[in-house]
Amino acid sequence: MTVTGTIWREQLTAEQRASLGRCAGEITVLRPDVLVVGGGILGVATAVAVRDAGLGSVQLIEAGRLGSGATGGASGLLIPEPHQWSDPDTFLDLERASLERWRYLDQLSQEGLGLVELDWIGLAPDSGGLAAHQPKNIEWLDAAQISALVPGLAWHLGGTLIRHQARVNPLRALLALAEELPAVATGVAATAVTLRGDRVVSVSTSAGEIEPGAVVFATGQPPVLDGLDLDIPSDRVKGHLLVTEPTTVRLPCTIAPVATPLEDGRLLAGGTFDYGDESPAVREEVIDMIMASLRAALPGLVQVDVSHQWCCFRPRHPDRRPVIDRVPGIANAWLTSGHFRTGILNAPATGLALARWIASDKPPPEAATWSATRFGRRS
Ligand SMILES: Cc1cc2nc3c(=O)[nH]c(=O)nc-3n(C[C@H](O)[C@H](O)[C@H](O)COP(=O)(O)OP(=O)(O)OC[C@H]3O[C@@H](n4cnc5c(N)ncnc54)[C@H](O)[C@@H]3O)c2cc1C
Repeated sequence: MTVTGTIWREQLTAEQRASLGRCAGEITVLRPDVLVVGGGILGVATAVAVRDAGLGSVQLIEAGRLGSGATGGASGLLIPEPHQWSDPDTFLDLERASLERWRYLDQLSQEGLGLVELDWIGLAPDSGGLAAHQPKNIEWLDAAQISALVPGLAWHLGGTLIRHQARVNPLRALLALAEELPAVATGVAATAVTLRGDRVVSVSTSAGEIEPGAVVFATGQPPVLDGLDLDIPSDRVKGHLLVTEPTTVRLPCTIAPVATPLEDGRLLAGGTFDYGDESPAVREEVIDMIMASLRAALPGLVQVDVSHQWCCFRPRHPDRRPVIDRVPGIANAWLTSGHFRTGILNAPATGLALARWIASDKPPPEAATWSATRFGRRS
């Protein structure tokens, strides 16, 4: 039977699942040094970085349950290197730094964050422009080499092998990070801010007023709050994912655009871009299409069924890059939004950049790249 819901949730213990809704409605610190609004991966990673930077007390609030936005439904791939063909260097630097930070946090955490090291193969008809800027960790494999590595593959194609990428169960990683934060309240939505001069003096929430020293909004898309006059263009792009039943069809690593191997011999596939589809419901025809493509690539899956299917929404700005910035015109408020396809990957480095910015009161050198005002609209 197919479960409509993520496999990530099922991989948690009952205790972990319960802690996704920890301290429901209970704000512990009413005057935190830093308030973080949003309990997705960006909010949690930022709260952790702020605490580690010694910036005082941190209160995180989340309107729903932890990871209930894009984070809980993501694929969880931490793969910066394939983006070198599509993304500018500043973005790639952020991604690479963030993967290193993921590894550091994984080692630091008592139980680990569940980071799984993973190689990545991108199938392609030829090596294209690869040689022009080929780092040491990238190799071109011809079709015979790919067939030897992936014996069940129906396609006769070469591919790019990139070593030392990674993946996580995004919910498990988020929980492991959040576990070390003393003040996390779920079921608490920020509704309004009160400004005095150029400072936020209070944030109204569904559970009362908070008077923070500084505030970071990590709400997926930019926050929509009374008293906060932001005009940053954004939308969201739905994506479907599926996981198969355990199968004997083995993949040695992520094979793009086919699938990623998970625990128990299952395969994770999909990550569609369903532009214009605003319905939160899983569409069976999209799942059927993903499964048909998977079976076309790996005919050994013909008898294998879908075990989990789900969809979620990627927050996006028009240029598909995130905003990481001080809120324009406000001295003690920051925001990060629109992490689109790579928010899980980029969360630790983003959190670190924000924590350093709050601590030093100085923007990092690359701040212009992530500016909230780069879209040329009033903010
Ligand atoms: C199909 C799919 C596959 C993906 N795969 C990957 C991948 O492999 N690797 C990768 O790096 N990224 C991936 N992503 C992208 C990634 O999921 C997002 O970029 C990332 O989760 C964004 O995190 P976030 O914390 O900014 O937003 P969210 O996870 O949406 O968290 C924002 C949180 O803020 C809360 N909130 C909003 N408003 C308020 C308020 N007023 N008060 C309190 N709380 C509030 C929301 O309830 C929500 O929980 C994928 C996305 C999709 C859809």
